[in-house]
Amino acid sequence: MAKMGQDRRNRPSTKDANLAPLAQPARGGRGRAARAKTEDRAESKPFWETKTLEAMTAAEWEALCDGCGRCCLNKLEDEDTGEIVLTRLACALLDIGKCRCSDYPNRFAKMPDCINLTPEKVRSLAWLPATCGYRRVKEGRGLAWWHPLVSGDAETVHQAGISVRSFARSETGVREANFVRYIISDFDAD
Ligand code: SF4
Ligand code: SF4
Repeated sequence: MAKMGQDRRNRPSTKDANLAPLAQPARGGRGRAARAKTEDRAESKPFWETKTLEAMTAAEWEALCDGCGRCCLNKLEDEDTGEIVLTRLACALLDIGKCRCSDYPNRFAKMPDCINLTPEKVRSLAWLPATCGYRRVKEGRGLAWWHPLVSGDAETVHQAGISVRSFARSETGVREANFVRYIISDFDAD
């Protein structure tokens, strides 16, 4: 089995204004009122319900990560079948207690197999966890109650058992040939 690169977030490089247009107003005063209400509703919706991944600002893109740490687990690929399996071995840079990269600004220099997560990659990487905030938004499933953007609390992703905090261990000190000993069944949930 071959080791696969980990995958993480990346700031979006483009901004396309691919937002749903507001309903056209009808004529007369009633039409103006209807339009204002439509605009109010659009403005009250959170950004992940109104914007495409490409249209998000850098800050919004970063906030969409729920902090689960799942994409920082090593994956192995069967060279014959192409099957991808997950291990509980976390990238050496992952702070497992916080489920956050311990050197996010320099991650690509320190971990060359850490992959930029872009809107395009969110669409193409089949192994991105079903719980991942980027994947959920891409698939139109919205964010779950435990996402910090919804709950307002960074702990809920751990309390809900979505993060890797309780079972991951660092890859440090584990020979690559022994990674197969740490294979786990996928723990997808949505
Ligand atoms: S939500 Fe989880 S799986 Fe998705 S990028 Fe963030 S840490 Fe990785
Ligand atoms: S370098 Fe950081 S972001 Fe990349 S896989 Fe490792 S812990 Fe995750």
